[in-house]
Amino acid sequence: MKSLYKNIKGTKDILPKDCYNIKKIEDFIHKILQSYGYGEIRTPFFETTNLFIRGIGESTDIVSKEMYSWIDQGGYNLTLRPELTAPVIRAYNQHQLSAISPITKLYYLSSLFRRERPQKGRQRQFSQFGVEAIGSEYPEQDAEVISIAHNVFKSLKVDNINVRINTIGSADIREKYIQELKKSLNKFSNDLSETDNKRLKNNALRLFDSKDPTCQKILDENAPFIYDYISDKDLNHFNKVLELLDSLNISYNHDKKLVRGLDYYTNTTFEICSESLGAQDALCGGGRYNKLVEQLGGKPTAAIGFAAGLERLLIVLNNQDKCQPIDIYIILIGEKSINKGLLIAEKLRNKNLSVNVEMLRRSMKSQMRDANKLNAKFTIMLGENELDKNEIIVRNMVSRKQDKISLDDIYNFTFIKNQE
Ligand code: AMP
Repeated sequence: MKSLYKNIKGTKDILPKDCYNIKKIEDFIHKILQSYGYGEIRTPFFETTNLFIRGIGESTDIVSKEMYSWIDQGGYNLTLRPELTAPVIRAYNQHQLSAISPITKLYYLSSLFRRERPQKGRQRQFSQFGVEAIGSEYPEQDAEVISIAHNVFKSLKVDNINVRINTIGSADIREKYIQELKKSLNKFSNDLSETDNKRLKNNALRLFDSKDPTCQKILDENAPFIYDYISDKDLNHFNKVLELLDSLNISYNHDKKLVRGLDYYTNTTFEICSESLGAQDALCGGGRYNKLVEQLGGKPTAAIGFAAGLERLLIVLNNQDKCQPIDIYIILIGEKSINKGLLIAEKLRNKNLSVNVEMLRRSMKSQMRDANKLNAKFTIMLGENELDKNEIIVRNMVSRKQDKISLDDIYNFTFIKNQE
């Protein structure tokens, strides 16, 4: 069958079987994040474009080339959110959440939009779950945030995960370091790609995110590490984070090249990767952003968070082969059974059972075949002869045991839920 229209490149239709499996993972994520005392926040899908320009930084890839922005009929410049930290901090400031408590722990699980080149694990509409812990400057908060991300992947039994961690120190050393970095790399300008030359000029720290092997080789051989420029206070903070991770039995690699792309990061940066993912191997990324609350109009407030891609998690879990279970399939035989069938189905659904009712007036044999295909745990057969005698047949599709019971007894029958 041909369709006149197709979904947009980089987006995906998620069909019922996959929705069922995704929902199960989502429920699990909600449960874990709530178990740390984080409360869910939902912000609008679009915001004023300036929020992202100010929050993420003009020279980042996201802002310079990946945002879906438009001017609406009222003349407002709007953008489909490409990340959630800036909107969450906008909401934190707007609703004065700091007045409720000196510490605010929030989490989200929702869709984002970036006009990137689609490939495995990279879409233009994708979902992230993440946390933002706002209010504490202490290393125990860093350790908690990293351990939440780690715990989600561990509890879901994701294999081969690798925690990479670094610190980029406070914002005040950045300018000095970037000057040094530029000095050491300017002479390689001819060997760098156009994109990397742009990065060198506008946002040299981002060169570390380059996927170009030549650039990485030049960095390896020539670039100073920001880690070597940080203050003693920042170094102590970082060492305490590592000590706490040790005591939580979380292994990590200190990767001095991990600086992460967005302008708002300060101090701790981290990523959790999985070898099973291929080129786009990052499951999650995060870090401290002690300046963002202030940058968006609030009082100076320390904060740290992470964001993790749901689609990449689903790729590594690779367990999307289960069907949405159905408890009961009601087989209707003859027109007289229709009214009764619909009524019984409604009443059983009120008892927290999932019930499918025949809608195609098919033969009993093909209804039975359909019930098998849908893995129904029970069928209820409403035949005209039985209905005349006020009877009904219930069949356990697993044990194949069949009972003829009176119509009224159906609501007292013990149906075991399908746990598929
Ligand atoms: P970021 O917000 O860029 O730090 O990304 C955080 C996480 O979101 C990454 O580690 C990925 O797991 C996921 N992610 C980022 N961009 C995409 C994308 N275009 N498609 C799917 N997942 C993504």
